[in-house]
Amino acid sequence: MGKPRFRSIFDGLPAYEPSRAVRSATGDSHLLAANESPHRPLPDIVAAITEAAETINRYPDFGGTELTARIARAHGVTEDRVAIGAGSVALLQMLLQAVADADAEVMYAWRSFELYPVLADLAGVRGVRIPLVDERHDLNAMAERVGDDTRLVLVCNPNNPTGTLLGHDDLRAFADRVPADRLIAVDEAYFEYVRQPGARSAIALTADRPNLVVLRTFSKAYGLAGLRVGYLVGPPYVVARLRKAYLPYSVSAVAQAAALAALGRQKELFSQVDEVVAERARVRGELTATGWAVPRSESNFLWLRMGAASGEFGDRCGDAGVAVRVFPGEGLRVSIGTPADNDAFLAAAAAWRAKTR
Ligand code: PMP
Repeated sequence: MGKPRFRSIFDGLPAYEPSRAVRSATGDSHLLAANESPHRPLPDIVAAITEAAETINRYPDFGGTELTARIARAHGVTEDRVAIGAGSVALLQMLLQAVADADAEVMYAWRSFELYPVLADLAGVRGVRIPLVDERHDLNAMAERVGDDTRLVLVCNPNNPTGTLLGHDDLRAFADRVPADRLIAVDEAYFEYVRQPGARSAIALTADRPNLVVLRTFSKAYGLAGLRVGYLVGPPYVVARLRKAYLPYSVSAVAQAAALAALGRQKELFSQVDEVVAERARVRGELTATGWAVPRSESNFLWLRMGAASGEFGDRCGDAGVAVRVFPGEGLRVSIGTPADNDAFLAAAAAWRAKTR
């Protein structure tokens, strides 16, 4: 019997393995694998979702008119500079499809967000990986590698999974070295967690550049990972083309209403972000005090480069009911959760230290 013919790229595609909940023998379960917000949704946001549910027999507003306008206002840009998507990954996928000529290349640092190579493969675009140096983007090597076939450069800032941040001036100087007919997408999924003095969003760089876009999400700081809303800020030319590529109605009315409600509750949500940032400092402080090497993180997770031991430590965390993200042979990423979540992880780290010392 024959099989349906798929593009050969599907043969090598890794199956995406979403993080799974784990539970300790005593029933503890701490979800620190997916960089989600540990806070339950605010009652106002749940109320907005319930209200929007009343109309789900109808298709939602196609382009998310009200949400787009509200996002534009929040960033002080015009509405023709904002596109929304079903999570920022949907916008990333559209960007890759938009540039996927034969021979097109997309460049990104490595290690970075694990979906970049998967989306590149799916779009039929060759991925070019530029190794991190000291857990940071090597912007010089990236600028030098931009070639005729480079159509898109992805810069994850802060970088997932290392948590490191590129300075605004460095990013601007990099953007100046990339020809204006190549797209640069700065993925700021975690930017709300940045506290480095003088840090600025790359949104400021989109005003006078025809080729720079910034991706943001409601999945992290806004606590809406389960509803899938992300957005892009960029030049009107790029935004208009992406809007043509929208998968019809992919951002549901419920998701649009929740995102609008979340923007209306930004103050409360950002004070939850402050709590996560304070916990990040506490967890990193305790780890470094006990001999762990942990790069300074500007995101809602920490990176432990443990090499071959990563898998075993990940298993021990699992036994303790703490779900973390293991990158086999490389390292382990742990999200910052509630103080109780973080204490459970710190206990697992201390037990590992005691055993391996
Ligand atoms: N970019 C980065 C760097 C991420 O880590 C993630 C989520 N893990 C995303 C984008 C995707 O976010 P969304 O939920 O908006 O699709």
